[in-house]
Amino acid sequence: MEILICPMCHGALTLEVVREEGDTVITGTIRCQKCGEAFAIEDGLPNMMPPDMRAP
Ligand SMILES: [Zn+2]
Repeated sequence: MEILICPMCHGALTLEVVREEGDTVITGTIRCQKCGEAFAIEDGLPNMMPPDMRAP
């Protein structure tokens, strides 16, 4: 998984791993150091869409 920039502000992201298997993060949080936005990772899938950005 390579998620390097925040979709909101393009700031640097920090990955906080709760559980991982091999090279895959199963549960965790991706947090932006710049705007403070956080994105949950559940079942190995990061949710990079904040509620106000769910337009197609
Ligand atoms: Zn940000």
